[in-house]
Order: sequence, then C-alpha cells, then structure tokens
Amino acid sequence: PEQDPLPIELQPTSNMSRKAFSVAVQRPEEIQDARLKLPVVAEEQKIMEAVHNNNLVVVYGATGSGKTTQVPQFLYEAGYGSPDSPTPGMIGVTQPRRVAAVSMAKRVGDELGDHGKRVAYQIRFEGTVGDQTAIKFMTDGVLLREVAQDIALRKYSAIIIDEAHERSVNTDILVGMLSRVVKLREEMATENSAVKPLKLIIMSATLRITDFTENKTLFSNPPPVLQAEGRQFPVTIHFARKTHHDYVEEAFRKISKGHRKLPPGGILVFLTGQNEITQLSKKLKEAFRIGQSATGPQVRISGKDAPMETEDIDFGDAGDSNDHDDFVDEDEVEIDLDDDEFDVGEEAETGPSKMHILPLYSLLPTREQLKVFEPPPDGSRLIILATNVAETSLTIPGIRYVFDCGRSKERKYDRVTGVQSFEVGWISKASASQRAGRAGRTGPGHCYRFYSSAVYERDFEEFAEPELLRMPIEGVVLQLKAMNLQHVINFPFPTPPDRQSLASSEKLLTYLSAISASGQITQTGVTMSIFPLSPRFARILLVGHLHDCLPYTIALVAGLSAADVFIAENQAIPAQAPRDEDAIFSQADRIEEDARAKIRRQFNKVQKDFCFLDDKSDAIKLLQVVGEYAHEPTETWCQSHYVRFKVLKEISQLRKQITELLRTNITAFAGLKYQEKLPPPTAKQVKALKQMVAAGFIDHVAIRADMSPNPPEVRRKPTRAIDVPYLTLFPSHVKRDNEEKAVYIHPSSPLAHISPQECPEYIIYSYLQRAAPSAATPEKIPKARMHALTDITGGQLAALAKGTPLLH
Ligand code: ADP
Ligand code: MG
Repeated sequence: PEQDPLPIELQPTSNMSRKAFSVAVQRPEEIQDARLKLPVVAEEQKIMEAVHNNNLVVVYGATGSGKTTQVPQFLYEAGYGSPDSPTPGMIGVTQPRRVAAVSMAKRVGDELGDHGKRVAYQIRFEGTVGDQTAIKFMTDGVLLREVAQDIALRKYSAIIIDEAHERSVNTDILVGMLSRVVKLREEMATENSAVKPLKLIIMSATLRITDFTENKTLFSNPPPVLQAEGRQFPVTIHFARKTHHDYVEEAFRKISKGHRKLPPGGILVFLTGQNEITQLSKKLKEAFRIGQSATGPQVRISGKDAPMETEDIDFGDAGDSNDHDDFVDEDEVEIDLDDDEFDVGEEAETGPSKMHILPLYSLLPTREQLKVFEPPPDGSRLIILATNVAETSLTIPGIRYVFDCGRSKERKYDRVTGVQSFEVGWISKASASQRAGRAGRTGPGHCYRFYSSAVYERDFEEFAEPELLRMPIEGVVLQLKAMNLQHVINFPFPTPPDRQSLASSEKLLTYLSAISASGQITQTGVTMSIFPLSPRFARILLVGHLHDCLPYTIALVAGLSAADVFIAENQAIPAQAPRDEDAIFSQADRIEEDARAKIRRQFNKVQKDFCFLDDKSDAIKLLQVVGEYAHEPTETWCQSHYVRFKVLKEISQLRKQITELLRTNITAFAGLKYQEKLPPPTAKQVKALKQMVAAGFIDHVAIRADMSPNPPEVRRKPTRAIDVPYLTLFPSHVKRDNEEKAVYIHPSSPLAHISPQECPEYIIYSYLQRAAPSAATPEKIPKARMHALTDITGGQLAALAKGTPLLH
C-alpha cells in the first residue's frame, strides 16, 4: 500500500463531500474527544471512499487504533443500516470470541449515545437484536449459520470481518464464503435495482493479509488495503536474561516485585490457561493477604526484610518510534525484574500499595469478564491475569505493563498420529508484538518477557499457523458439502488444508454415513448438517432414538459438545499455602490444612456420587450432572458440586435448541417435546447410550494391551488404572519415533479411580492428548492419554461393526 506523503488532518465525518446520505450522531463529549485521537478516525474519509468505490476493502491497523469501535460507526453515519437510506440492511461485524462481541457492542452503543438500541449483539444463545438494530456484533459462527440459511445475506448491507489476522477456522471459512456472496450480490444488483451490492470489509491487526489480498482463487482483483498508522506509544521490551520454564512461578516473582517497584499503572499478565490463572491468583492473594482479615492466616513467603534499593526510572525516548521491536535490546533495562533476589510483603515504594487482581479467560462468566473495564479501587494497582483473550480483541484501559510468558495453549492436531493435544507452546513473533502493544495504549509502556531474546529469535515463528491447518476438519467438510460444494478442494480457502486431512475427514464422514463412498452427501449427512454439532455428535443424535433414549441422547450430546463441565481437582482445592520455612508450624496453618482436607473429601464424594449409575463411563457421569442440574439450576448448586454454571446453562440451552431442530426438521419427531427434567435412565438405557456414543467414535476404540492379539511385554504390573496400557484399534494413532505405542487413561476420567483389574477390555475415547514436554512437570516421553468417553463390550462393538447401530 502506498504511503500518504502528507500527514492527515483529523477530520470528523460531517464535511465528507461525496456522502449522498448521512446519519447525524450525537456522541458524549469525552468520547468525541477520545475518538478524534484514534488513527483510524483520521483515515475515515479514505476508508469510506474506498468502501464507496469497492465492494471489498481490507483495513489494517495496529491493535487499539480504533478499527472495531470506529469502522462500524463510519458505515452507520454513511447510511448503512438505516431503513430509509439507499443501503438499508444491517451492518454485521464478526468477532472470533463471544466476550469481544458482547463488550464491543456495548462500547459502540455507548459511543453512539443510544444505550444499545441501534447496536446489538448476537452470540450462540444470547442476543439483543431488535427492529431498530443497525449494527450487529456477532461471533463468526453465528454469521456462518446465517450464510447457510441465506447465501445472499439479504439482511445486511455491509459485513465487517474483524480480527482476520487470527485466522480462526470460522473466519477463514467466512472470508471464502463471503468472497462468493459479494459476487452473487453484485450479479443480483445488476439484474434487480432493488438489491444493493454487499460491502465486505476485512480488518486485520497485522500485516499478514497477503493470504487474502494475493489469493487469486479468493479475489480475482486484489482489494484495496487501507492502513491506519498506529499512534501507539512506545513500549520498551525487556527480555529475560534466561528463559524460565516454570513461567507461573516466574510470573509470581515478577508481579510481586513489579508491584513494589513499578510506578503506578496496570499490569496485564499473559498466561496460557484458566488453571494457571486461578493458581497464580490464589498465590498472590495469599502472599499479599488480599481479602483476608487481620486475624486470618498470616502467610509470608520470605523472612527477609532487606530494605529495597530504589532505582532510576527512564522511559526511553517517547514518540520516537512505534515499532517496539526496535527496542529489542538486552542492555536496555530500566527496571530490572529479572534478578533472583526476591521478597514480598512490604509496602510498595513507588506504586500503589494494594493489588486489584482480576482473571480473564473465556470460560469466566461474562459478568466477571466485564469487570476488567472498570477502574480499580482507589490506591490499588490493577493486575489482570489473562489468556490470549486479551491479546487483540479487548482493549483494557489503564494497562502500562505487560508481563508475557511467551506461551499459549493451543489445540494441536497431529495429522500423522491422529493425536490431538492442547499444548503449551511458544507464541509467534506477531503475537508477542501484539501482547507488548497492549502496554502502549495510554502512555509509554513496558513489556517484560519471561524469555530471552535468543529463544525469541530461534524458536518463535513469524506468524501462528492458521487454525484450519491444526484441527480435524470433518465439520467444515460436512458444512461445505451441505451447501452443495461437493468438491471441497475447490473452495476458496485463504490457506487451503492439505489433501491428506481432507481425505481423512471424508473417510470419517463415510464411517458416519454422512457421505457416500463417492463423496456425495447423503440424506443422513444433510440432516446431520442442520445441527450445530460436530458430525460425530450429530451421528450419535440420529441413532439415539431407540429404547426411549432420545431425551437422554439429546442431553448427552449437548453435554459432550459443550466446554468441560467439571472443575479440575487442582482448581477446586486451594493451593497449599506457602509457608515461611523457619516459622513455627502455627495453629493457623493447621486449620488451613484441615480446611483443604475437608474440601478434598467433599470433592471426591461429589465425583463419586456423579458416578452412581456407572463408574466406568465419562459420558454417563456427564449425563448424570446434566440431569441433576436440571433439577436445581442454580449457581450455588454448581459451586457446591464443582461444576461450571456457565457451561451447564449453555448445555440446557443447547438441549432446547436440538429438541426444536429435531421437531421441526424430522417428520418422525414432529410431536417431540422438550423435557428439562428426566428420571434416571434404566440399566438398559445406559447400555444403549454407551453404544450410541460408540457409533460416533467408531474409529476411536482402544483395547487393553494384555487382551490384544499381540500383548506387549509387561515389566511391572500396573498398580493404578492410569498405568494400564491400551492399544488403539484403529490405525489413527500411529506411533512416532521415541514414543510409546500404548495409550493410557486420562486421570480426570472416572475410570482412573477403579482398580487396574477392573479396567474394561475396550474403551471409546473422544481424543488422545499428549502433555507438552515444556509443561511444569515434564515426563520424559509424555504419555498419550485417552479422554475416555465410555467402556464398551466386545459384543456391542461387533454389533456396531456389522452396521447395527443398536442393541436388540
Ligand atoms: P482496534 O479494534 O483497532 O484494536 P478498538 O476499536 O477496539 O481498536 O479500540 C480503540 C480505542 O477505544 C482503544 O484504544 C480504547 O482507548 C477505546 N476503547 C475500546 N473499548 C473500550 C472500553 N470498553 N472502554 C473504554 N475504552 C475503550
Ligand atoms: Mg479490534
């Protein structure tokens, strides 16, 4: 893209000459002032000219430059979304994450001063869209479903695909899809003047846009790229001298020290998952006695009371450059948080004295998530412990320091071995730069990286791999086939998946009877595609009506396709309080220990109770939870049973939705009624349900190694169920070099608690997971662990193999 030779004056919209139609907007004064400072606002005229002259435009601007909040408003002011304008359809804005869709709709509503009437959001089961809606924020999944219903997207005059650089599967599919929708609308508009062309705006926070702009199958003419030069404050990057592997511990040390030493300003800490965030939050709260009364347990980390030396603080050369990678320099360390000397418990010398710690991750209830936008209590320092949710989509006010562990937890999928994993791995250089950028929103900032510049240079990729290349894609393939695209290979993917993963997806879809041997979608496949479920779960649903099982199957499938309901043991039970080594074992500490033991007993009892119908099947345990929750759908019940309220609420909504879809799409189920509360299933039903689960996972069967035709040599008899080796029957799990052939039960499964002798002959698993070697407790050769779904008998498997999906 060409650079504008002249600096651009800040130009509010009102004197745009070519505007044929405009909507007057009254913004609150302080919002108007703030938005005039945003780089994107300076480009309004250019952006809107490009939109007028092209149906497809790409907007690039650094995170925080104003893309998400401002571009929809430009369109709105130019008449998009207004019923009496020449472009009456809604402005749709997609987000890869729900939390962003909700919070951005709220922010834009506030900016327009109309409290959400013209700006609305729609996420999977929740939305505020009404007659007056002009700007609709939604998750990309929501828009994908809408394209499937109306390929011309007639409700919309413009679509903005935001955060396209993240390259989520849905975003990639949407970009491909919409490239065709834009063409279709152009054709429709030439034939019928009542139809207007659709404007498509792709927004990205990094320059990795060539996959879109230079992809000839996607767009035959490269779209114009509008650039909003970031007026980001400089961020000084501090690399660690050495790379710390226990980054959670490192975060604790650095936060403790940073809180004492750094001048006022919020700290945003990037970690990889909820688990780490809860652990660290607890540890900080204990160490800094947050929320404990004076008589509560007094915990000290270190007995040292050495006075802290003060250091000079130099913020470097503000305004010099906004390319913070220029600051990569190991010697440039203003406030060194990187030495080993460490103590806490003192009052801050330079910064505020109290910590205001907030977690931020996607499974956190929305109400809790939105707390990060509120100013912290007076005299306290905001400390946000976040996953990469905070990397690009949310702008949290007041952040001046970013602490970056340099890792993220990502779903990986090994196409050769078929092993899926949620691995903690290095982020890309682009992500590291996004994270650092979060510190430069309100003024010059600092980013402390927990890794050395050598590791960064050697091990970090330039950009993250598109998600589509890291996941099984049978769901995508089925959806595309259901939209009449039989040759998925011809779909204009921004980055096409390789032929091998397309082939294995088609193979799985054949097993599930969704497509014929020649790759044509079957009637079953068409029906399966109606449900917002992965093909495996849709298959279970469609075989699940015998033996009066249907309401249970619905509940089970809803449960299986939602996020994890169960709170893990290490999250449910508080961390052991760190104790001063030379302190006397005090009464307070003992109470603490007793309290932990009590929680542990309670936790174990609850888990056992959930297994009362069956102690070998995760699926039946899940069904039990869903069933019990329906009788007492409260947050209190969930808390006392160590399950997630947010997830269970969603499962219940999904049950309703599936029931409705079955009722309206399948004649045989026209009379189906939604049953929230169900009696416990009979033993016969439990047996049938297990077999139905197997029908969706027929390629995920493991046999106990000692029962297999060629039992491997066993050196020691396993004493725990989780040490009992299994072998996968299907050749999906191919062994890589240096890896064990056997797979093992995951410790979170009820099966993990039975005796090794009781371990079932066959197990159906949902996926195999291998712990990342970089985790805090590295196993030498990490074992592949089965996320078990259920035990199953040889007889049931034989029945399935013969094509009889159910027992007689
Ligand atoms: P981009 O999409 O380019 O990353 P945004 O449009 O999200 O940028 O944000 C632009 C600016 O709007 C931010 O820098 C911030 O100052 C402000 N902003 C966004 N959301 C909020 C919010 N919820 N509260 C306060 N300010 C916000
Ligand atoms: Mg944005």
